[in-house]
Amino acid sequence: MPARPVGSVEVITGSMFSGKTEELIRRVKRAILARQRVQAFKPRIDDRYDPHRIVSHGAISVDAIAVATSASLEERILDTTDVVAIDEAQFFDRGIVEVCDRLANRGLRVIAAGLDQDYLGRPFPPMPELMAIAEQVTKVNAVCSVCGGTASRSQRIIPKATTVLVGGSESYEARCRGCYEPREVPPAPT
Ligand code: ADP
Ligand code: MG
Ligand code: ZN
Repeated sequence: MPARPVGSVEVITGSMFSGKTEELIRRVKRAILARQRVQAFKPRIDDRYDPHRIVSHGAISVDAIAVATSASLEERILDTTDVVAIDEAQFFDRGIVEVCDRLANRGLRVIAAGLDQDYLGRPFPPMPELMAIAEQVTKVNAVCSVCGGTASRSQRIIPKATTVLVGGSESYEARCRGCYEPREVPPAPT
């Protein structure tokens, strides 16, 4: 073993319900089994479930720290940490790219999960940049809720005219390329 391990950035990406969080948790649990010291983070904006845990749609979870910015994430990294896991990375500011790069340069293993596209099918910053600097990118797929095919898109099914709408199956469903309808959902009449 080298005295100072070589760090890396791994990205797990795909649509909603594609198993990004499950895959992140799987890697975290294996790292803990290997006696690595892990710190897991999520953006404070993602308040769908427990604020102190990363929880998948299938209800598996790990402890996590909710932080508002990439700077506050970086400040909380302990000297003893080997692995940093980040869920919902698309909700972080662009500084998350440099933070992940710096941590990897210091020898840490960084695993970041997040949406590759928003609900209009547009690349979801800062995920494209994160994917570019990563050593390894894993794309995962959901099951299309219309035809049962391989889903790669997140279809917003309720009206709300903002890019960021934190929600689950009440607001979004997974769709394949053929069943996905890229359109602005008109705001509900007031
Ligand atoms: P992500 O983090 O990508 O949104 P999660 O890891 O939280 O996804 O959840 C994946 C789980 O969601 C699956 O194991 C399954 O139990 C559930 N699920 C619900 N709807 C779907 C769907 N349309 N396709 C695949 N999995 C789904
Ligand atoms: Mg998730
Ligand atoms: Zn389909």
